Amino acid sequence: MSKTFNKVNAIRGMNDILPNESYKWEQLEATIKSLLSQYGYQNIRTPILEQTRLFARGIGEVTDIVEKEMYTFTMNKDADKVDPEDMLTMRPEFTAGVVRAAIQHNLLYERPVRAYAMGQVFRHERPQKGRYRQFHQLSVEAMGFDGPDMDVEIILLLARLWRALGLNNIRLELNCLGQSDERAEHREALIAYLEQHIDSLDEDAKRRMYSNPLRVLDTKNPDMQEMADNAPKLFDYLGEASKAHFDAVCERLEQAGIGYIINPRLVRGLDYYNLTVFEWVTDDLGAQGTVCGGGRYDGLFELLGGKPTPCVGFGLGLERLLELADAQGAFTPLQETDVYFVHQGEEASKKAALLAEQCRDAGWKVMVHAGSAGFKSQFKRADLSGARWAIVIGEKEVEQGIVAVKPLRESENGSIENQFEAAQADLIQILAERK
Ligand code: ATP
Ligand code: MG
Repeated sequence: MSKTFNKVNAIRGMNDILPNESYKWEQLEATIKSLLSQYGYQNIRTPILEQTRLFARGIGEVTDIVEKEMYTFTMNKDADKVDPEDMLTMRPEFTAGVVRAAIQHNLLYERPVRAYAMGQVFRHERPQKGRYRQFHQLSVEAMGFDGPDMDVEIILLLARLWRALGLNNIRLELNCLGQSDERAEHREALIAYLEQHIDSLDEDAKRRMYSNPLRVLDTKNPDMQEMADNAPKLFDYLGEASKAHFDAVCERLEQAGIGYIINPRLVRGLDYYNLTVFEWVTDDLGAQGTVCGGGRYDGLFELLGGKPTPCVGFGLGLERLLELADAQGAFTPLQETDVYFVHQGEEASKKAALLAEQCRDAGWKVMVHAGSAGFKSQFKRADLSGARWAIVIGEKEVEQGIVAVKPLRESENGSIENQFEAAQADLIQILAERK
């Protein structure tokens, strides 16, 4: 009796990135890394798992992420003994962890720090196009900078990234959230307004109208748009300093030739923002059109037990960015193989393996046909590999110390060179001449 086993599949909302797609990821990451280094950013890598309370405090209790999207668990099996430090969460974003690390290692001791993190983050949302449970973010954090100049610099960095990837249908939306005392005043007016419009609020909004009324304005519910549009605007409650900061951001953007739209309802989904907030949005991705969101988070260091440290940064969804860039033809499939060795017989197989190593010493990408098969099917594989040449070794070639070189691709004049013979000792030279 033979036993049968069930297949095991990946978790819903968590995608495999297969070899025929991964080259796009590698190219996107390379473009991003080289651009970040132009702006002086260094990589930081923090753990995927952090204490739950880091995110609860850092992101805010009354946010989508903390209320319903975090993967949280404990390894402590004794329910009575679970204390808050035992609760662990898979990072739903990077900023809280990066700031935690900066405080823990006193990273800003000597000077401000420009750091970026890139990798997987986890949110338990309903999977759909552009929305997954494991996805990738680039998170850029300029820590220890207070001026509007840095707000604009990171926006320019993003504009440069769009240019590098050939994106044009992407717009910048901007708002100013002011400071907490300004928000407090606006909050009272907003709650009064929401109370007057209680009948047009959905369940989420009713639940949040006292705990986080600003987030009610962030609603995607079409029935609530008119109500939200007419609500008191935070903008009208800003003091001189906040207004001056925002005006300086706008002026510098205009000088740099970056168009923007002021969106008074843009509040962002995380609690830690103040002053400048922004999103880059496109209509090319359907409902999930926000590619990148960011802004100032001057209060986060203190909230997490550090010294007051003004910061500005953004989080960018790589799946959404990759889809946009791919549609613009930003990626080119890699030439995986230059040379493919085709061989027949034990001696030829050994010779092919040795010559292949010599070709690799010379810098070529080389595949040797593995196992034995007829020449015909080996040539088929050679072709599939994308190689420019098949190097053929059979009994005769072994005896005479030669190889047959079979060019597989058109040369610059559009024709394919005929197959020819060459001494094994000359192979490297012959390939180099055709580089
Ligand atoms: P959304 O309003 O789409 O839920 P968000 O405000 O939750 O976005 P952020 O927390 O600002 O998003 O994350 C930054 C970026 O990460 C988003 O602009 C988006 O590109 C991407 N992103 C967020 N959630 C997901 C997800 N579940 N799957 C794929 N990408 C996502
Ligand atoms: Mg979200």
